[in-house]
Amino acid sequence: MDSTPPTPARRAWLLLGTALAIGAAATAAVVLLRPAPAPPAAAPVPVAEVRPAPPPAPPVVTRATARTVERNQNPTQVLASMGLEATELQAVLGALDGVLSFTRIRVGDQVRVERALPGGEFRSLSWRQGPADEFLVLPCPTGLCGSRREVTVTRDVVLISVSIRSSVSEALQTAARDPSLAASAADVLAWDVDFYQDVRGGDSLKLVVERFEADGRFLRHGDVLATEYAGKVTGRKRLFRYTDPSGFTGYYDDAGTSARRGFLKAPVPYVHLTSRFGSRRHPLLGYVRAHQGVDYGAPEGTPVWAVGDGVVSLAGWSGGCGLTVQIRHRNGLDSVYCHLSKVNVAAGSHVGQRQVVGRVGSTGLSTGPHLHYAIRRGGSYVNPLQLQLPRGEPVKPEWRDDFLTRIDAARQQLDRTPIALLD
Ligand SMILES: [Zn+2]
Repeated sequence: MDSTPPTPARRAWLLLGTALAIGAAATAAVVLLRPAPAPPAAAPVPVAEVRPAPPPAPPVVTRATARTVERNQNPTQVLASMGLEATELQAVLGALDGVLSFTRIRVGDQVRVERALPGGEFRSLSWRQGPADEFLVLPCPTGLCGSRREVTVTRDVVLISVSIRSSVSEALQTAARDPSLAASAADVLAWDVDFYQDVRGGDSLKLVVERFEADGRFLRHGDVLATEYAGKVTGRKRLFRYTDPSGFTGYYDDAGTSARRGFLKAPVPYVHLTSRFGSRRHPLLGYVRAHQGVDYGAPEGTPVWAVGDGVVSLAGWSGGCGLTVQIRHRNGLDSVYCHLSKVNVAAGSHVGQRQVVGRVGSTGLSTGPHLHYAIRRGGSYVNPLQLQLPRGEPVKPEWRDDFLTRIDAARQQLDRTPIALLD
């Protein structure tokens, strides 16, 4: 460094340089935080021809404190626990007033305060409620100002491919870290694969699914655009999501056959199975008798779906079956749901496929919460797992070309070599 004492003119340059550096830093921060409108072009920086350029401003060193909102904490308590003193705390709350509704703060919200070192001046506060909702407090000419951060949400289509060892949900949780994907897959395959009964180790599942990110962080998965299930029991099933020119959205195989059937393959959302159709020792009566249906072990309160459209023929107590719903369907079949803890429908009412008709319970002859599900044709019981019911409307012939064009990208993704499991 040169040792010449600064002349008044030189001092002015140093001040100007510092001011420009601060201005530039502030602009950069705003640009980084809100990517939306481009900043106006910076004013040309005067170039000192004779005097050396002012030294660059030292980088700002900051210290961050982070907290996760806990049960029964109010905003003041959260901020006070992060070392904000009274005046600062009031300024922050004032800046967020009208920006973030404090009645909406939630357990798990992430709060982060940044201070400059060594002085500890307030630099920023971020209040994050999930990847897409972030609120900021930054210094501004009037003190502190609050704003909602503009988050860029991007949509991608990804292929998730899993090999199943024990359960579909476990495999998807491992591969995609998203527990809701198993339910999405079960929804799409609801007429073809019973995720309780039909799944065997070594089966494989592929999903072509929308993936949304907020500023590069995973936000959520969206619609399943295509899926392939290859299983020992089910064989290979491929389905594609298609919205036809009339606006109807459904899932179809690559020949345009609808996935929809008269009956769902299972009357409960995908959870856990206990007993299969066939003879077994009755857990309460203690002797072997024909088991006239399928048991779905599921927690008490799990919704029970009508497997198909129909009219409720019984809703109430029915001997060992306990609290029961029975539905008469147009194809001459009756579906029966036993041991319910709650019945949501009355005899005589019309129900639609996947309507919740009751809740899983343990009423009647039952050792624990489960759904006993049975199908009757005429007077006798048939195995619900072996029912083959006709499919819904196929893609209309005049829309076939449109259908094939639209599913082509998803089909190519399904054909790709499966990616390796993450771990
Ligand atoms: Zn049973």
